[in-house]
Amino acid sequence: MRRIAPVLLLTTLLMASTAAWAVRESYIHLVISDRAQISQLTNVISITNVVGNDVYAVATDPMLAELTALGYSYNTLPSLKKDAVIKMAKSASEVKKSWQAYPTYEQYVEILQGFAAQYPNICRLQEIGLTQQGRTQYVLKITDNPDVAEDEPEVFFTATMHGDEPLGFMLMLRLADQILSGYGTDPRLTALVNNEELWINPLSNPDGTYAGGNDTIKYATRTLANGLDFNRNFPTRLAGEHPDGNPFAPETVAMMNFATLHHFTLSASFHSGNEVLNYPWDESADRHPDDAFFIALSRAYATQAQLDGPKQYMTQLDNGITNGWDWFEVNGGRQDYMTAFQGDREVTIELSIKYMVNATEVERYWVANNNAMLGYMEAALTGVRGIVTNAAGEPLAATVEVVGIPDVGVKVSSDPWVGNYHRMLVPGVYTVRIAAPGYQTAESTLTVNAGPATRWDVVLLP
Ligand SMILES: [Zn+2]
Repeated sequence: MRRIAPVLLLTTLLMASTAAWAVRESYIHLVISDRAQISQLTNVISITNVVGNDVYAVATDPMLAELTALGYSYNTLPSLKKDAVIKMAKSASEVKKSWQAYPTYEQYVEILQGFAAQYPNICRLQEIGLTQQGRTQYVLKITDNPDVAEDEPEVFFTATMHGDEPLGFMLMLRLADQILSGYGTDPRLTALVNNEELWINPLSNPDGTYAGGNDTIKYATRTLANGLDFNRNFPTRLAGEHPDGNPFAPETVAMMNFATLHHFTLSASFHSGNEVLNYPWDESADRHPDDAFFIALSRAYATQAQLDGPKQYMTQLDNGITNGWDWFEVNGGRQDYMTAFQGDREVTIELSIKYMVNATEVERYWVANNNAMLGYMEAALTGVRGIVTNAAGEPLAATVEVVGIPDVGVKVSSDPWVGNYHRMLVPGVYTVRIAAPGYQTAESTLTVNAGPATRWDVVLLP
């Protein structure tokens, strides 16, 4: 600690005047002649939208140089953030009172610490890593008995890995506040906290959001401090470990380590730039074997957000949902990583067409998404669930296979601490197999209904 303190101090001093140092990003447009060119472009620039042959992207100077070297020409468009009215709060309590002013970095930390202090029975604050500029990547854990592993699905919400998409950041803080303050009085929120282990990472790229210094988000950048797109920096199933041609950033390593330490059933990554739910895969045209589940999950969210939001809200692409590849190819995205490498199911949720939402507009996005977010969390309680033990009642690490729906990559499995497994499925009749090395495989045909998961506890024999 003592050795790194001077470094942190220096970093803090430097950050006070980093506005001019922040990574320069351009918003560009180019026209392709063949959609196959996306496969090359997506590893060079940060594509944000593809409409027909028109490609829109954010690019740092090195990305532009690479693009030019490949023979592409492009137009530079006006900044996506030029009209944003960014009101910064004067205090943490102002943020929590109105939710219409963005917190400074210090206020953000104060709010998180306040949650953990005010709700010690259901909340823990964890630090999962340090960013390149020495800020902290925080995750809130919200559940009853927060220090005990229980037979509950782990659900993870994370926002703003693109630093200039701060709406998700605000909505995550407000969601945490709502769940914590509603526990014990609101039946829906109480049930969520009692029945699930919720994890919320409100701001995964604080260096990007506070690129202009800790007191403002006005100069926020999409990329991490080193100019990499966080959402293109994960290992992939098909394109290798480093599809962007760069080593893993410290933020990526922290996120992968955090995910590996846990046993997530379901997660969501919140962004801005469109109004649509984007489900796996991003990197390939083949459908995820659980395509029906991903469609149902995404459709439920979009429908709820349409009901609760302003007219036309969350109706982009296929009326608010899209297969990732169908929209445009992304390699190294978090959603595919969590789904293929962590036995999890993750969807990317684009909350607003505007990247930097005006502080006064945050409220209407909250109203539009609040029920949809809670419903998404509740989806982890559907499908099939149970506990896998040996004859002595000890929990086992077992894989859960659904005949006809093979997992691609890491299989859904039980959590070795408790033996609990949670296999989300759309309603239907399924043959489920539970297997662990050294034990006989168990198999059962189960009916899954809408609503609470069908329970199948399994004792495996040697
Ligand atoms: Zn984004």
